[in-house]
Amino acid sequence: MTKHYDLISIGAGSGGISAAERAAEYGRKCLVIESGTVGGTCVNVGCVPKKVMWNAANLAHGLADARDYGFDVTNNGLNWSKLVEQRQGYISGITGWYGNYLSDSKIDYVEGKARFVDAKTLEVNGEQFTADHIVVAPGGYPIIPDLPGAELGLTSDGFFAMTEQPEHIAIVGSGYIAVELAGLMSSLGSQVTLLIRKGHVLGNFDPILSDTLAAVLQEDSNIVLLSTTEVESVEKNEQGKLTIHCTKNQQVNNVDALVWAIGRTPNTADLNLEAAGVEMDAQGYIPSDEFEQTNVKGIYSVGDVNRKAALTPVAIAAARRLSDRLFNNMPERKLDYSNIATVVFSHPPIATIGLTEQQAHDSYGNSVKIYSTHFTPMSHAFTEHKAPIAMKLVCVGAQEKIVGCHIIGPGVDEMMQGFAVAIKMGATKADFDNTIAIHPCSAEELVTMR
Ligand code: FAD
Ligand code: NDP
Repeated sequence: MTKHYDLISIGAGSGGISAAERAAEYGRKCLVIESGTVGGTCVNVGCVPKKVMWNAANLAHGLADARDYGFDVTNNGLNWSKLVEQRQGYISGITGWYGNYLSDSKIDYVEGKARFVDAKTLEVNGEQFTADHIVVAPGGYPIIPDLPGAELGLTSDGFFAMTEQPEHIAIVGSGYIAVELAGLMSSLGSQVTLLIRKGHVLGNFDPILSDTLAAVLQEDSNIVLLSTTEVESVEKNEQGKLTIHCTKNQQVNNVDALVWAIGRTPNTADLNLEAAGVEMDAQGYIPSDEFEQTNVKGIYSVGDVNRKAALTPVAIAAARRLSDRLFNNMPERKLDYSNIATVVFSHPPIATIGLTEQQAHDSYGNSVKIYSTHFTPMSHAFTEHKAPIAMKLVCVGAQEKIVGCHIIGPGVDEMMQGFAVAIKMGATKADFDNTIAIHPCSAEELVTMR
């Protein structure tokens, strides 16, 4: 017999779980269908393992800095297996917790690949399930380019499966994942070749961030940054090492691991969306309106698959608000996608919210005023390893409303959340100036900039 639910989520990642979780809190009968591992990308092959590696990389910097502060410490090298084991143990704890949480919340869970039979019916492993509301949250997967030998490379998924630390890692791409992996692998002692096809990293970010990070990458003795370089083919030699053939007759030799970090594509090809009449765009994303509703009533697209902002807290917030609206009599409840703060866990990290300087000029013309500063944080005043700080506030109009805040440097990852609240509330430069600084710390520059 076909089982009927108030809500079915396709995908037990950040979006799918959150929609079901919130609906279940309102007493609704929910099913989550997952073809991989509960927790999805963020928990298993995204934010969580990445942050553990980033933390380890920070410790490596800390050990080096400790010597300059007078401690008698030596970094005798990283036990990669131990780090990976600890990391995976931590992740198992999270996925185990999710499993218990789902059963405690009386949310049904089915392992398998969901596909639409019609707009109200899904099929998994030959069994059919129907629902009044279906949340499509299948996330995406990393792109592998179509070129000879590309299969010899890994993706970020494969990076997290590495059981040995590569002596020499090549990373192709210039976005979040490429710069995050380059920074952490260099800090952990690998030689890194970063291949970017244009002249910049993080091309969509404000130049104060991308230029400062590019300078850090260029100065890093463990990193070779090959810009305006495209990969043409990859081959493996008899020793098992990779050779990467690139444009301009360039060649990268003796590569132990190659990672493609050139973007992701939505997991929609196998969903049989046509059977439900759900429209996709040319890249396979499922557009949804401000209420996360697709073109078909009762079917919603949430998280990476709707292409609005591929970040875990966005998927969670959108999904929870959707269930609030559907099941808690809140007809206008929806996510406001403006002013979403984000952190790139590069070395040093980047935090950003709102408009870049150029976007502000495009929207507000001459009424834009920029405040910026560059300095060395006190923690690195006398250390050999230095990390810069750069900050920019983008203000508009006579009130100097802050429409953008872009910061890079040690500690900015934790600095941004509080400033994001102020900016989301409409803070002006005068509000920042009226806030008494906390001294001595790097964040005080944000309220004392002239
Ligand atoms: P996912 O988490 O991808 O979940 C989708 C789930 O659906 C998957 O488990 C998949 O197996 C399942 N699925 C797919 N098709 C089907 C089907 N037909 N039937 C059943 N199940 C199906 N974001 C941040 O905010 N901060 C970070 O630091 C961060 N770091 C990241 C690092 C990396 C390396 C990567 C790759 C991503 C990172 N992200 C980060 C992005 C974040 O992981 C995603 O935005 C988030 O996971 C999206 O959630 P989702 O629910 O849309 O999809
Ligand atoms: P991104 O979209 O961030 O960056 C990929 C970049 O790779 C493109 O912008 C492009 O830059 C470059 N590129 C594309 N195709 C090629 C190619 N064929 N050869 C060389 N370079 C290419 O993708 P990621 O995979 O890094 O991350 C996916 C998303 O996941 C992110 O956008 C983010 O939303 C999320 N994420 C969030 C994190 C966080 O919050 N800290 C961490 C990791 C991921 P260009 O055009 O300049 O060449």
